[in-house]
Amino acid sequence: MTDRFDAIVIGGGVIGCATAFELARRGVKVAVVEKDTLAAGSTGRSSAIVRQHYSNEITARMALYGLEFFRDFRERVGDECGFVPCGFVVLVPAEDAEGLEANVALQRRVGIDTRILSPDEIRKVVPGAAAADLVAAAYEPGAGYADPHLTTTGLANAAKGMGARFFLGREVTGIRFQDGRVAGVDTDGGALAAPRVVNCAGPWGARVAAMAGLEVPVSSCRAQVAVFSRPEGGRGPHPVVLDFAHASYFRPETGDLMLVGLIDPSEADDVVDPDAYPEHTDEGFDLMVGERWIARCPPMEEAEPRRGYSGLYAITPDWHPVIDEVPAGSGHFLCTGFSGHGFKLAPAVGLLTAQMVTGEEPSFDPSIFRLSRYAEGNPVRGRYEYSITG
Ligand SMILES: Cc1cc2nc3c(=O)[nH]c(=O)nc-3n(C[C@H](O)[C@H](O)[C@H](O)COP(=O)(O)OP(=O)(O)OC[C@H]3O[C@@H](n4cnc5c(N)ncnc54)[C@H](O)[C@@H]3O)c2cc1C
Repeated sequence: MTDRFDAIVIGGGVIGCATAFELARRGVKVAVVEKDTLAAGSTGRSSAIVRQHYSNEITARMALYGLEFFRDFRERVGDECGFVPCGFVVLVPAEDAEGLEANVALQRRVGIDTRILSPDEIRKVVPGAAAADLVAAAYEPGAGYADPHLTTTGLANAAKGMGARFFLGREVTGIRFQDGRVAGVDTDGGALAAPRVVNCAGPWGARVAAMAGLEVPVSSCRAQVAVFSRPEGGRGPHPVVLDFAHASYFRPETGDLMLVGLIDPSEADDVVDPDAYPEHTDEGFDLMVGERWIARCPPMEEAEPRRGYSGLYAITPDWHPVIDEVPAGSGHFLCTGFSGHGFKLAPAVGLLTAQMVTGEEPSFDPSIFRLSRYAEGNPVRGRYEYSITG
């Protein structure tokens, strides 16, 4: 006999598990179907930076909700997420100072704890920073990073504790409709029935949407991360830094390591097959991003490169996700395309998606994430257009 559920979530990444957690909390009988293991996709390679620096109000509010959720994860979820509140700094060159100030003003209006730093203050907050070329920076003292595996398994275990079923190693191969409404999914281990299905398949989101006859503009793109061992003199407390002047970011990692990556829209050009892509870094990548990091932090010159890796971004044309029921009233929900900044948004997205599935009043206006915005020529616009920063 076919197993029956109220809702099926496709994908066991942080977005699928946050959605399942919120659905289970509402008493919805939910199943998560994951073709691999939990956090096997984008999530497991995420730098998992939890910052609130966004340039539009809805995403800033969602990021604020996320930070509070990560900070109180134990009380809310009953488990650890490895959140480290090391602080977060955005550095901008002179020409972007005005935009930065406007962003910070917007963020403060929605209740985010953030402020502008002068070059002198930058040097105090970011040890050894070369700040001569910078006019200003924004600082979020309570932001930081979490552990993507702990976060995802914590949400999944809590959902399980509230009755959710997890089918791991089971691939969804089709989405069934009856009379214009979702009826369930086919998997390589048999069919599952449900009147609601949520596509949380990340970089596979377009493929899974095609099973419902939809074309969704989500590309699977490769993002590289270099790993360095910090030199002895550079091992103290360190914030996460987003350095616009060098189009790069660096964030501390357990074991006196530093992760260094790009914040460059050209990452959208490295389109790959999410089931078969180079999972290492390209030759020369470590050197290239390492030079950018050391230009900003000269005391790190003696850092030793370690083995880097690549992960997947699910990139949409405006670098913002699609969160929508398509067709309206069908019970078929899209929740994909987080374009390299979905980890921090996962708590808010899980809440929003569960509210949409159950028909509750949404806590965040989902209309900016509707699929039709692309066809309408009305993509999400932010001050940092078409890049990861949002
Ligand atoms: C290198 C890197 C650094 C990042 N840094 C940050 C950061 O600092 N801060 C931040 O906020 N975000 C960051 N991100 C982005 C963030 O990690 C992602 O946006 C987020 O993890 C997306 O989660 P997801 O659940 O949508 O996708 P995924 O984690 O990819 O999960 C999708 C899941 O669906 C499963 N699936 C696919 N097809 C099927 C099918 N047919 N049947 C069953 N299961 C299926 C896959 O196996 C996968 O596990 C980063 C990402 C990368 C790669």
